[in-house]
Amino acid sequence: MKAIAVRPGTPNSVHLADLPKPKIQDIPGGRGVLVKVLKVGVDATDREINDALYGKAPEGYDFLVIGHECFGIVVETGPAVTRVKAGDYVTCTVRRPGTSIYDHIGRSDITSEEEYYERGINLRHGYLTEFFVDDEEFMVRMPVGLKHLNVLAEPMSCAAKAVEQAFLAQRRLQVWNPRRAWVTGAGQIGLLATLILRLRGIQVFTLARGKKPNLKAEIAEGFGATYVSTSDTSLSQLAASHGKPDLIIEATGNSAIAFEAMEILGHNGCIVWTSITGGQRSIQVPSDAVNLHWVLGNKLLVGSVNANFRHFESGIADLALGEVTWPGVIQKILTTPVKGLDQYREMMRLLVEDKDALKVYVDVAEG
Ligand code: BGC
Ligand code: ZN
Repeated sequence: MKAIAVRPGTPNSVHLADLPKPKIQDIPGGRGVLVKVLKVGVDATDREINDALYGKAPEGYDFLVIGHECFGIVVETGPAVTRVKAGDYVTCTVRRPGTSIYDHIGRSDITSEEEYYERGINLRHGYLTEFFVDDEEFMVRMPVGLKHLNVLAEPMSCAAKAVEQAFLAQRRLQVWNPRRAWVTGAGQIGLLATLILRLRGIQVFTLARGKKPNLKAEIAEGFGATYVSTSDTSLSQLAASHGKPDLIIEATGNSAIAFEAMEILGHNGCIVWTSITGGQRSIQVPSDAVNLHWVLGNKLLVGSVNANFRHFESGIADLALGEVTWPGVIQKILTTPVKGLDQYREMMRLLVEDKDALKVYVDVAEG
């Protein structure tokens, strides 16, 4: 079976690997689900793994199969499987449990261990292959009516968790009714977070570098948000003209902006940082001012990574609601298909070079 893999530690080592086809018996207790892979999305994480910034091979291998945003069809299930059946469309969660208490209660997304196990990212093979098998506990059914949104389920789960974390954490305030949110970054996480916040009736400003007209602006505005190009308007200018935000979802992939956002958050506000920045940059921050205003304003910063089964379910529910609320807008994110696993070089080239590609994904098989 073909698979797209890298050799962790070696930059630009993306290649085609060969793996045996998995079997439902590989999973104990009759809980195995065998999935035929149809589509797999790639994102900045895959790019940084290929740049050897992070990512480890599973034990016993010198390569790591990449790809963690999957969409497939169930072909066979073990005798104990009840939640999915052959013919169902599914996606699959990314992280696998370690040994902390959070891992034991199905919350590996908040494991307290430093080492984490993620399919396609760290110590577990990913989905850029022809078939995979996993425990039914990690399988998430995709409604057939959302088949066309396929690989967006995984990034949507991360956006759903980020927004959920803000609302959960803000219960510290007893009353929190955010009216104005900023989403910094209009990649897939930024646009999907925009969608979730708009579905909750919040006024959203989605900020990105590119000037209008562009696809990111078209999608954000398609969800009823206001798109702001930071090439025209700085964060502080926007705060001065439209007021400070109650909530910021930070998804630029740029740590300097993550810190700059701290300077404009409103009182009692919350920032959720979602970007993974594998580089080594360091910047100067106005630490006295930030410290002062954060204490005087009772502000909160939350980091949010990954997503568990529940976030996939709520993300998929919001994809469905978003689709009937703003028909046809979400699928505009799926800009850049690549045909077949053999095109792994083209996949990586588009991911690295094509600045207009909002979402690169591999069409692995028809189905
Ligand atoms: C993935 C998450 C993962 C994170 C850190 C993201 O690209 O979508 O599932 O937890 O990277 O590895
Ligand atoms: Zn990802």
